[in-house]
Amino acid sequence: MPAASLDDARHDGDPPGLSELAGVCARVAAAARNTRDAARQEAGADRDAPGGCAHTSASAAYRPPPRTRELVTARDQTCRYPRCGQPAWRADLDHTRPYHLGGLTCRCNLGGLCRAHHQLKQLPGWTLTQPQPGVFVWTTPAGRSYTAGPDSYPCHAS
Ligand SMILES: [Zn+2]
Ligand SMILES: [Zn+2]
Repeated sequence: MPAASLDDARHDGDPPGLSELAGVCARVAAAARNTRDAARQEAGADRDAPGGCAHTSASAAYRPPPRTRELVTARDQTCRYPRCGQPAWRADLDHTRPYHLGGLTCRCNLGGLCRAHHQLKQLPGWTLTQPQPGVFVWTTPAGRSYTAGPDSYPCHAS
């Protein structure tokens, strides 16, 4: 039996998709546990900071450090395009305001975007802003805005 089908066998009887969802939820819960203490420490500083972020975890590098990646992935859970279900751990971390334009490598300026929506964001006429950490506002070339707030994925990260 090939290794790939061993995993499937464990979830025998689950409709396809549900077992994958369970895997995503398990990863999110694990990441949330790892980062919960750090997040609690930062929450105090963030409460008083304009925009809800004191940039305590900001990095000077373009690539987010592992802990920032974990925080953002646990927060976003899926691609930040409204109703796109691609899991964030499989997606790119996008600098909402581009790094080369001064955008911070910080959880308030990073969001999980799948490859397709990362490319969509670069197209003329599209803009993406993050007015608060984890709140993403997309504006289409026609000028319509859509907000992707905190995720509504059916996970219980406890
Ligand atoms: Zn920040
Ligand atoms: Zn997407």
